[in-house]
Amino acid sequence: MSLAARPEGVRVRAPGKLNVSFEVGPLQPDGYHAVASAYQAVSLFEDVWAEPARDFSLSVGGSVDVTGVPTDDRNLALRAARLLAHHIGHDGGVRLSIQKHVPVAGGMGGGSADAAATLLACDALWGSDLGMARLQDLAAQLGADVPFALMGGTAIGLGRGDRLSPALATGRFDWVMVVSEVGLSTPAVYHELDRLREGAPGVLHPVDPSVPVGVLQALRSGDPVALAAHLSNDLQAASISLQPALREVLALGEDSGALAGIVSGSGPTLAFLAADVTSALELQVTLSAAGHKALHVHGPVPGARIV
Ligand code: ATP
Repeated sequence: MSLAARPEGVRVRAPGKLNVSFEVGPLQPDGYHAVASAYQAVSLFEDVWAEPARDFSLSVGGSVDVTGVPTDDRNLALRAARLLAHHIGHDGGVRLSIQKHVPVAGGMGGGSADAAATLLACDALWGSDLGMARLQDLAAQLGADVPFALMGGTAIGLGRGDRLSPALATGRFDWVMVVSEVGLSTPAVYHELDRLREGAPGVLHPVDPSVPVGVLQALRSGDPVALAAHLSNDLQAASISLQPALREVLALGEDSGALAGIVSGSGPTLAFLAADVTSALELQVTLSAAGHKALHVHGPVPGARIV
C-alpha cells in the first residue's frame, strides 16, 4: 500500500446526466454508432463508499428501485475497481457500497456515474494518484458515458460519446425529470433505431454526427428559451416506439408550462426544461398531481469528486 493510500475509506459523489443534443450516425461494422452528444451533468447524484478489503464486494441501496442492479461482476462499479486494480498492479480488493439516486436503466447514466465514482474512490483509497487524463482513459474502457461522469459540467462527446471536450456554459438550467417505472435497455433502443431507419430509407440521417451550433450558442448564453428550441435526441423516436406512453407524458409536460421536453439519453426518463426555478417547481407539482414521479434537478453540476 502506498504512503498516500487512505486506509479509512473514501466517499465519492458522481452526477447523473442528460443529453441536450444527441445525434446518432449510421450503424458501423463494429456494431457501434458514432454519436455527437452535448452532455449536461445534473443534480441527481450517486454516492460510492470504498473501503479497503482483501476481496472485491459490492452492496447497493438508495432512493430508487435497485432490484435490477447486479451486485456481481456485471456491475460497472465492480468492473471499474477491478480494471483499476489490474492497471496499477494492486493485489488487494475493495468493499464498495453504492447509494443510488439516479433512476436505473433510465437513460441518465447512473451505472456510468457509479463506475466513475469508483475509479476516483479506488484511486484515492489505493494511493495510485493517476491523475484525470489516465482515469479518463480507464473510464472510456468501461463505457461511453463514464468519462463524462468523471468530468461533469457541460461537455461535447464525440466518437462513442467518450471523446470529450468541455463546452462553455453560463448560468443554471432547471429541469423536471419524469421517471418511468419500467426501464429501457440502451442496446434495445439502438436496435429499435436501426430498425426504424431501415424501414424509412428515404429519410436522411446524420452520416457525420455533430452538435448543432445553435445548441452551443444556447448553452453559452445560459438562455433556457434558446436551449429549448434546440433540444433534440435521435434516440427519442426509438424510445417512444418501445414505450408509446411516453408520447402522452411529453405532451402533458409541454402543455403544463415546460419550455420543451425530450427523452433523456436512451430513455425512458423524460427531461423537461423550465424557464426558471419557480416554473420548474410548478411543473413538478402538476406532473406529480397527474400521478407521475417528477423530480426537479438543475445543471450543470461538477463531475465525480471526493466528499
Ligand atoms: P446509460 O444511459 O449509461 O446507457 P442508463 O442510465 O440507461 O445507462 P443504468 O442505470 O446505468 O442505465 O444501467 C443500465 C443497466 O446496466 C442496468 O439495467 C443493469 O443491468 C446494468 N448495471 C451495471 N452496473 C450498474 C450499476 N452500477 N447501476 C445500475 N445498473 C447497472
